[in-house]
Amino acid sequence: MKLYNWGKSPSIDARLHLADSYSATNSTLNQLSGQPVIPRGNGRCYGDSALQKNVCSTLKLNKLLQLDEVAGVVRLQAGVLLEDLLSVLVPKGLFLPVIPGTRLITIGGAIAANVHGKNHHHAGAFGNYVQSFSLLTADGQVLLCSRTENKTLFKNTIGGMGTTGIVLEATLQLSRIETSYYQQQSYPATSLSHLFELFEQQHTQPYLVAWIDGLASGNKLGRGVLHTGKSCTREDLESQATPNPLQIHPPAKLSIPGIVPSWFLQPIVLRLNNGYYRWSNRKSIQHVKHYASFFFPLDAIKHWNNLYGKKGLLQYQFVLPLSSSLAGITAVLEAVKASRLCPYLVVLKRMGEHAPYAATDFPMSGYSLAIDFKYSPKVLDLFHLLDEIVIQHSGRIYLTKDARLPAAAFRKMYPAAVLHSPQIFRSLQSERLFDL
Ligand SMILES: Cc1cc2nc3c(=O)[nH]c(=O)nc-3n(C[C@H](O)[C@H](O)[C@H](O)COP(=O)(O)OP(=O)(O)OC[C@H]3O[C@@H](n4cnc5c(N)ncnc54)[C@H](O)[C@@H]3O)c2cc1C
Repeated sequence: MKLYNWGKSPSIDARLHLADSYSATNSTLNQLSGQPVIPRGNGRCYGDSALQKNVCSTLKLNKLLQLDEVAGVVRLQAGVLLEDLLSVLVPKGLFLPVIPGTRLITIGGAIAANVHGKNHHHAGAFGNYVQSFSLLTADGQVLLCSRTENKTLFKNTIGGMGTTGIVLEATLQLSRIETSYYQQQSYPATSLSHLFELFEQQHTQPYLVAWIDGLASGNKLGRGVLHTGKSCTREDLESQATPNPLQIHPPAKLSIPGIVPSWFLQPIVLRLNNGYYRWSNRKSIQHVKHYASFFFPLDAIKHWNNLYGKKGLLQYQFVLPLSSSLAGITAVLEAVKASRLCPYLVVLKRMGEHAPYAATDFPMSGYSLAIDFKYSPKVLDLFHLLDEIVIQHSGRIYLTKDARLPAAAFRKMYPAAVLHSPQIFRSLQSERLFDL
């Protein structure tokens, strides 16, 4: 079948093996008798990290195995989607300590990319809350990995992009919530340095994220809106007349069909959208938001990637150390502006201290910027230029968003990276990055 991930490129002919038990997963490996394979969750990575001629999907390993409500600990299979898990946890006042920008990913995908949310400066990444997992390795063993057992494999799998084996199930530490609502405060910023000042002033807020107007230039370069957030208590909700303080997310109501032509998304749409966004956030305002719109605004529209047409989108997400963040992000925004390409969505996050996991793990203390573009060969040229800026400023790009980083640039960004089972567990991405 034709297989691609969220960005839609590359797209390849692949065999998707859907196993519904651990033994069936192991049999799949045996039947492949040494051919390369890569685990796959829900294909929400953007590029080729979950692509290979043989792909082992975990979507049928989707059972919640045990929930200890008192300890706030859950044991579940790796193919469970965050959205299904949240439907069970939220009514019980339990939540995930780290939530990315979509609920449509699996636990296995969250571990393999060591995903982060708007609270990395406060809570770190997903891996911090993984107590243990079972991993099916290249030699067919199922190993329990934790901070005390098979420690190296535990560390190398978190952020390891599926190259150490297939995570079959995991045990996670949960957090507690009084309500499923969040108090969001928004602060407009007139420039990038203003935005950085706001981030540092609001550093004690649990959640921080900024939208940037990618069309601004000159002394307005990097203007945007910082959103801070914290979980609402029951008392905070009293004035809101909310019928159910532990309401779960609603299903998406809108869906974009796959036939949208690539000319549909025009720069004028971005100009209007950015103008409206800045106007509606021109003053510092406070909102109470349900977690669905606070964490997952994009999930409100199913298949929104179809808006970018058949060839899809490319995202460039990178992180820079704190000391070079302002200079590096300024240089990147200037390069984007000079390219005259349209940055449809630009998002800035503050990253905090980060526990060491795999050598391909992304986060570091500093700032991370993500920019979405419609696919075009010119965008690929721009990305090469951005790689140089990121390397010059001692940063790296996020592999789960990548579809094209050259091996030489990868080695400079991730100098300690090695492949653990190069014969068996390798994706198209790892073949490209490790020159296999
Ligand atoms: C709209 C949107 C918003 C996003 N926002 C964020 C964000 O805020 N923060 C963030 O960090 N990421 C974000 N992401 C990226 C996403 O969280 C990651 O790409 C995640 O890994 C996708 O999970 P998945 O289950 O779809 O895995 P896939 O995309 O299928 O696979 C991703 C990687 O995980 C590996 N993998 C999957 N399952 C297993 C398993 N069982 N065992 C071992 N390896 C496995 C694959 O081999 C691959 O390398 C976003 C993506 C989208 C589409």
